[in-house]
Order: sequence, then structure tokens, then C-alpha cells
Amino acid sequence: MSRLLLQCCLGSLLAMLLWQPAWAVDVRAVRLWAGPDSTRVVVDLSGRAQHSLLILHNPERVVLDVSGARLGRGAGRPPAGVGAVKQVRMSRNAAGSLRLVLDLARPIQAKSFLSTPNAHYGYRLVIDLGVTARADQPIKVKHAPTDARDLIIAIDAGHGGEDPGAIGKNGTREKDVVLAIARELALKINEEPGMRSILTRNGDYFVPLRDRMRRARAQQADLFVSIHADAAHDRSVDGSSVYILSQRGATDEASRWLAERENASDLIGGVSLDDKDDVLASVLLDLSQSASLNASQVAAERVLHQLIQAGEIRKHEVQQARFMVLKSPDIPSMLVETAYISNPQEEQRLRTPAHQAKLADAIRRGVHDYFYANPPMGTRIAQLASGNAAHPVLAAGAGGTGE
Ligand SMILES: [Zn+2]
Repeated sequence: MSRLLLQCCLGSLLAMLLWQPAWAVDVRAVRLWAGPDSTRVVVDLSGRAQHSLLILHNPERVVLDVSGARLGRGAGRPPAGVGAVKQVRMSRNAAGSLRLVLDLARPIQAKSFLSTPNAHYGYRLVIDLGVTARADQPIKVKHAPTDARDLIIAIDAGHGGEDPGAIGKNGTREKDVVLAIARELALKINEEPGMRSILTRNGDYFVPLRDRMRRARAQQADLFVSIHADAAHDRSVDGSSVYILSQRGATDEASRWLAERENASDLIGGVSLDDKDDVLASVLLDLSQSASLNASQVAAERVLHQLIQAGEIRKHEVQQARFMVLKSPDIPSMLVETAYISNPQEEQRLRTPAHQAKLADAIRRGVHDYFYANPPMGTRIAQLASGNAAHPVLAAGAGGTGE
């Protein structure tokens, strides 16, 4: 009897030992990034996996099940909560899924998607937790027409969070140096009378490209400047370049905006496209877009000129490319590749606050020159530019306006 029991036990023990679960993937790491408006959770996987996402209330939590997954060897303990996530819990269920529970601080919207491998990471499950609209968010008060307004300059530090951008030979990450330059530029812009800066990101988190444009538009930005530091296979390549959107990219974008009427409605100075027929809508959008492209070109030339003065330039003409982040049809936009982080000398210089400030100041001077030559109506700069011959020039660091 006891022998039979023993055999039976041994049998099931053997079966348990022999039974190899069909683990498809390992979870290698869980990483969290908190921005002011959203929190991103990234689950690094060894391969493609199916997943499901559930939002549960009382208490608020998000449950992610990854089919056929297990915790990989190097995965370690779940990371501490940040932003909207109070804590992260992980467990394996009988069905062979790995369950990740995110305990939340408040009710929140969540979406998830599988991201395919890039230069730095393999397959990743990304969960974006966005804050639901708060009742106490300030309502933007429009200035009275008689009240000259400040110009708004949107400054966009490229990459961020799980996206490091280009990485130098000595490990310098583009996302870090461009944020430092962007912050420096924002401070310098704020010192200009009649100008105010906003940053599309102000920390180490990723902001989707369309959200960067949306943030600039929500603040009614007059100019959008994206800051990057490029990499090239040839490590001897160095210097800055300035880009605007190519005509081709602009045309593609126009079709897209037209396809999304509701989104386009606030683009053209409050003229709604909803009730316009296709031809009229496309003409209105084209007008707005070619005006923006022309302004982008002129503004980019000013910035390029100042980078040449600073001795930093690689390409002596404004370049054109189909950068997504430049595609706002109604905001003049440029992208400054400040330097080649792949060049060891430039990588070294990019790390120093002095060089970051030098690049920021060249861009600031270009922005200054552009707006004093082309002041939008109703702005303080328009008054300053026409009212007195002597433009206010920053005392610190500015060697004149370059004109
Ligand atoms: Zn970049």
C-alpha cells in the first residue's frame, strides 16, 4: 500500500520534472519612466509574445498578462513605482502566463502595444498610462487684442526615456545632452523680452512625436525648434546642420490632416474644415502649410547663420528631410542637429556645460534675429522691433545680433 503510494508519488514527481513548459519568451527587465502627463512601463522580452491588458478598479490597477512568458534570469526584482504607478507586482499563473500588476495612484487610461526591436532594444511591451483630464487644469486665457502678447517658442529635446537616441563612443547619450542644450536654450529665450519658451519634455521620459507637436500647438507656439545630436558611421564627421520639412513630407502630411478632419479643424486660425468641401479644405490647408514652410526656411537660415558664426556648421545650407516632428502644418518648425555625438571630440565637447551653452546661444541668436526681422502682428516683439531702432540685445554671452 505504502509502496504503491510511493510509486504513485514518484511517478507524478517524475512527470513534473519531465514536463517542460513551452516558455516562448523571457521577461528580461521591467522599466518605468514618468513624465508630467503620463507614465510609460516597458517590459523587455526575449521575443515576440501575445499579451492582454485589463484595467481594474477599487483599487485602481492595470493587469498585463504575457502568454508563455517567465521571468528571465537577469530580470531581478520588480522596479519601484514612479509617477502614476505606486508599485509593480509580478506572478506566474497556472496557464503559463506571466502576470504584471501595476497598482495605480488614481484612475487612469491605459493602452499597450508590442514594439519591435531597434538598435538598442529587442521586443518590448509598452504600456502607456495617461492621466485622465483633471478638473483643476488651468484654462488658457487669450490676451485681449490690445494687449501685445509674448512669442511662444517650443523647444523640443529629442528622444528621452527608453529612447536614448544616438550614443557616443564613450557612452554619452543623445537624449541627455540634447535635454541639457534645450534647457539652456529655454532659459536664454526666457531672458529675451517678449519671448517665452516651453519645453516639450523636461526630464528623462519619452514623448511620442505627435504629442510633441500637440504640446506646441496647445501652447499656441510661434516656432518649434527640435534639438538633436546626430551619429554617423564615419567618426570623423562633425559639425551642426539645420533641417526643415521637405515639400514631399509636407504634402504627405496635408493628405493625412485632411483625412482627419476633426483634428485639422483648429489648424487654420480657427477656420473649421468640417463644413468645407474637400477642395476648399485642401486649399486652406495648403496655404497654411506653405506659409509655415516659408517661415521655417527663413527662420532656419537665421539659426544656421548664427551656428556658422559660432564656427559650428557642417552643412552651409538649410537641409530638408521628412522628419515627423516638423510636420505641424501651422507652426514654423526646424530641427537642429547640434553636433555629431559619434565624433569623439564632439562627444567630449557636448558633455561640457560651456559648449552646451555656446550651441544654445547660437540658436537663441538665430531665433532673435528671425523674429525681429519678421515680427508677428500683435506681439511685444513687433512693438520692440518698430518702436526703437536699438533692438534689446542680451548683455550676457551675445556678441551682437549677427546682423
Ligand atoms: Zn536625434
